[in-house]
Amino acid sequence: MSERKVRVRFAPSPTGALHIGGVRTALYNYLFARQHGGDLIFRIEDTDSNRFVPGAEEYIIESFKWLGIKFDEGVSFGGNYGPYRQSERRDIYKKYVQQLLDAGKAYIAFDTPEELDAKRSEVPNFQYDASTRMGMRNSLALPKEEVDALIAEGKQYVVRFLIEPNEEVHVHDIIRGEVVVNSSVLDDKVLYKSADELPTYHLANIVDDHLMEVSHVIRGEEWLPSAPLHVLLYRAFGWADTMPEFAHLPLLLKPDGNGKLSKRDGDRLGFPVFPLEWHDPKTGDVSSGYREAGYLPEAVINFLALLGWNPGNNQEIMSLDELVQLFDLSHCSKAGAKFDYKKGTWFNHEYILSKPDAELAELFKPVLVANGVDASAYSDAYLATVVSLVKARVNFVKELWEQSRFFFQAPSSYAEKDVKKRWKEDTPQLMTELMEVLRGIEDFSSKAAEEIVIGWITEKQYHMGNVMNAFRLAVVGECKGPHMFDITELLGKEETLARVEKAIQTL
Ligand code: GLU
Repeated sequence: MSERKVRVRFAPSPTGALHIGGVRTALYNYLFARQHGGDLIFRIEDTDSNRFVPGAEEYIIESFKWLGIKFDEGVSFGGNYGPYRQSERRDIYKKYVQQLLDAGKAYIAFDTPEELDAKRSEVPNFQYDASTRMGMRNSLALPKEEVDALIAEGKQYVVRFLIEPNEEVHVHDIIRGEVVVNSSVLDDKVLYKSADELPTYHLANIVDDHLMEVSHVIRGEEWLPSAPLHVLLYRAFGWADTMPEFAHLPLLLKPDGNGKLSKRDGDRLGFPVFPLEWHDPKTGDVSSGYREAGYLPEAVINFLALLGWNPGNNQEIMSLDELVQLFDLSHCSKAGAKFDYKKGTWFNHEYILSKPDAELAELFKPVLVANGVDASAYSDAYLATVVSLVKARVNFVKELWEQSRFFFQAPSSYAEKDVKKRWKEDTPQLMTELMEVLRGIEDFSSKAAEEIVIGWITEKQYHMGNVMNAFRLAVVGECKGPHMFDITELLGKEETLARVEKAIQTL
């Protein structure tokens, strides 16, 4: 291992919303960079103008802001290796394309898309490579004068990488070990197009990783097939000595069955595959996001961290700082990771439980407002207590409302099946007596009130369940909720009495 400074990059193409797999890739880069005191770069790979989607770059930046993944340099972050947007680096790439042409490691090809299509339908499994290139219209096959004439005429061309056949290409991958590919299976990839004067992904990616002194390329498994070509490009440029190390992360798989996780799986099973809600500017479609669905960013991070890696024991709950300590790139799995979205919900539940009540109460305020409650009318202490009483029952902050609405609104109706079961002929009489008892309680705190009410029920030899369930029905509107006397303590004597009285009148 070399002594180089760790420099890693996350390099998305702004072609739409960031997929959750991309978030995992960025997270692993982040953990690796932090762990080694290195730098994390944010580069935008936008050389394919046909696939450019407005708003995607901003969306990606906002996603990481929400998740708490911080970059050290890059688009919107600054740094000494810029510009970090590839569309702003045209001149740099041109120079390197020329270098390959001058060295005879690349060549110019004039074949039009129509000519290539014709060739493909004529020759089964046609591949532009050592076995076919001399039959095509390129600078290797045509006389120099013709090539010069075509260029002078302004004919569009591409630059292709000249791949020598029958050579073993070794890719050393930190996760997968040695991957060996015979160069004959590779085609002479297009590196540059004169039409838009832009390089393709492969060239821009390699040139930038080199110039930005990237030490490790950590990316999704879908890029593994490109790695042999990338190794050859590093060699062709004479950069083999400083070639980054590769680590190709395992695929994210469908929650059920085999195959790659797709947006359709999310639609089908009801979970987001994007960090934030995404409004597609072309189709107008809106796709759900983890943020809007009510996930806490810490929970999403923890959940994603374990998709393809684990600390080697049963520990599951880990903060970002702990992950930085424990993460081990070389122990990532090769096999795909099932996207168990239910586990994501579980993580959210756990993070809600461990969040301080005061913080949770803050998150709950907008939910209250959305449900027509003037949140400012309640003290922070009141809201924190409400949250503490019901949080064990929810997976999402917004679910706190269903569990706690009776703390903010007296019941306006009563659950029918509970009424049938719990409100008997003698209940009004019992409740009237209960009101008397409640009126006489000075210390309305949970424990004290409970002692007196239970004492009264026992003394009178009333049926505990009948009294308490009717009481609950009157105060909550249905037979559910946290401990009854915790509820009445928070509501206070007056409100409790008013609710019991109203139930007697209504039911
Ligand atoms: N632009 C590529 C992407 O969209 C980058 C792949 C890589 O990391 O080399 O993921």
